[in-house]
Amino acid sequence: MEDCIFCKIVRGEIPSFKVYEDDKVLAFEDINPISPGHTLIIPKRHARDLWEIPDEDLTAIHLVSKRIIRAIKTALNPTGVACVQLNGPGANQVVPHYHLHLVPRVPGGPELPVAAWEIKEGDMGAIQQTAGRIAAALKGSS
Ligand code: 5GP
Ligand code: ZN
Repeated sequence: MEDCIFCKIVRGEIPSFKVYEDDKVLAFEDINPISPGHTLIIPKRHARDLWEIPDEDLTAIHLVSKRIIRAIKTALNPTGVACVQLNGPGANQVVPHYHLHLVPRVPGGPELPVAAWEIKEGDMGAIQQTAGRIAAALKGSS
């Protein structure tokens, strides 16, 4: 896609700190890292989000994520790694080209904001009803 910033990175028109590349996937460091080692994994073929990405690119990204998380463990010895992927402006997706964030928490580092939310007990009736709506929608899809 002409104006997409991550497509420009794929084409080499914008520099990046690349950590991995194959025919389907590119992984590079986020330039505004939440923590050291914050890495983005993207499909080389443009797709906006999880609604749009083809299965083979999604599979490739998630298989590569296993290799990269192992490398992050070796290189940075994190106490944990959050894998985060945002879809749509309502979820604060800023770059509309699918990307999986790998965000390590390095020893002694602060809590990861993406991994910390307040646990509040839910309304079981509402949860059951919502589950029913999603399950019904799944039955109607392929
Ligand atoms: P989102 O909110 O869409 O999930 O996150 C987009 C991420 O892309 C942000 O963490 C942001 O720092 C990162 N980002 C935006 N522009 C660039 C860029 O030009 N290069 C790199 N390496 N990362 C970028
Ligand atoms: Zn793109």
